[in-house]
Amino acid sequence: MNIPADMYAAVVKSPKKLQIEKIPVPLPGPDEVLIKVESCAVCSTDLSLISTPAPGQQEFGRFIPGHEYSGTIAAKGECVDEIEIGDRVAVEVHKGCGRCANCRKGLYTCCLNWGNLKRGHRANGMTTSGGFAQYAVNHISTVYKIPDSVSFDEGSLITNAGCVLYGFEISGGYFVGDQVAVIGDGPLGLISVQIAKTLGADTVYMIGLDNYKMDIAKELGADIIIDVKKDDPVKLLKTSFNLGVDFAVEASGSEAGIRTALKIPKWAGKVLLLGIPAGEVTADLKEFARGNKYLFTVRGEGLTNCGKAVSLLKNKKLSLESLITHRFRLEDLNKALEVHNSAEIKSIKVVVNPS
Ligand SMILES: [Zn+2]
Ligand SMILES: [Zn+2]
Repeated sequence: MNIPADMYAAVVKSPKKLQIEKIPVPLPGPDEVLIKVESCAVCSTDLSLISTPAPGQQEFGRFIPGHEYSGTIAAKGECVDEIEIGDRVAVEVHKGCGRCANCRKGLYTCCLNWGNLKRGHRANGMTTSGGFAQYAVNHISTVYKIPDSVSFDEGSLITNAGCVLYGFEISGGYFVGDQVAVIGDGPLGLISVQIAKTLGADTVYMIGLDNYKMDIAKELGADIIIDVKKDDPVKLLKTSFNLGVDFAVEASGSEAGIRTALKIPKWAGKVLLLGIPAGEVTADLKEFARGNKYLFTVRGEGLTNCGKAVSLLKNKKLSLESLITHRFRLEDLNKALEVHNSAEIKSIKVVVNPS
C-alpha cells in the first residue's frame, strides 16, 4: 500500500479548539499496525475530552481525539503476523498494560496503569492519538478483522456494541425468557434492545423520550415502548412491591433514568448502568437494598466483547446501520461535533470519513 509521508489529522490545540493540520503519518512499532482510517464515529466522550482533559490524556497541542473507528491495514510491525496489509479492521479503545493486578485478570479496561505509556497502557483517542485522522497506529491487541459484509461505518460502532455486551456479560448474560427494560433511546439503548432480543429476552421494553428514536427501537425489536412524556414507567412495570422486571439497563445517564432503573426490578433483579451521570444522583435505595437487587457498572468494552460484536454483525444478529444518521468529511469535523451536540438536529451516531 502506498503510504504518503504526511496526513491530515484533527488536533486539539486548546480547550474546545480543534484544528485540521498536516502532520507526518505515524510509524507502527514492532507489535503495532498502521490503519488507514475509513470511518470514525463521534462520541460524547470526545466532546468532554476536547473541552476538559481527563487524567492521563495526551496533552493539548498534540491530542488527536476519536476512539471509535475502523479502516484498512496499511502497514504492520515486524512482530505482527496475525493480520495482513489490506485487511479490513475495527478497533477497541483499551490496551491494558498487561502487568497490573486487573490486567492480569483480563480486566484491561480497568488497567491500574491508566495513562502510563511507559508501562504499556494506551487508550487510543484518549491517552494516545486517535482516529480523527487519515491514519492511526494501534497495538495489534486492539484490532479486530471485519468481513466485507460489515461496512466501515458499522465497524466504527463496535465499541458501542462491545460496551453493551461487556455489561451484559458481567451482569449474568442469561436473558432467555426475561423481562428486560432499557432506559434511554440513544445508541447504547438501541443496541441494548437488539442484543437483549438476540439473547432470548421474552419482552424488551424501551423507555424513551424521542419519538423518532423510539420508532427505531420498535424496528430493532423492542416489544413495548414506554414514552416517558406520557406514561410513568415505574407505575407500569413495578406491578407489586416484589414484582418488576428481571433486568433494567440504564443507558441515558440521566438522574431520572437512574432513579427509574433502581425502582423497576423485581426482588433479586438486576440493574446495569451503561450511561454515566453528569453529576451527583440522589436515589432512595431502601427498597433496592431490601429486595436483594444487584447493581452493575462497566468501564469501556472489556473481555474482548468487540470481537463478539463483530460476530453478531457478521451473523446478522445485530444491525448498526440504522443508528448512523449523519456522515461528514474530516475537514468538517467541527460541524460533525455540532450536529452530535445539537438538541434540534436529530442524530443518533455521527460518523466522519477521513479517507
Ligand atoms: Zn465512545
Ligand atoms: Zn494494567
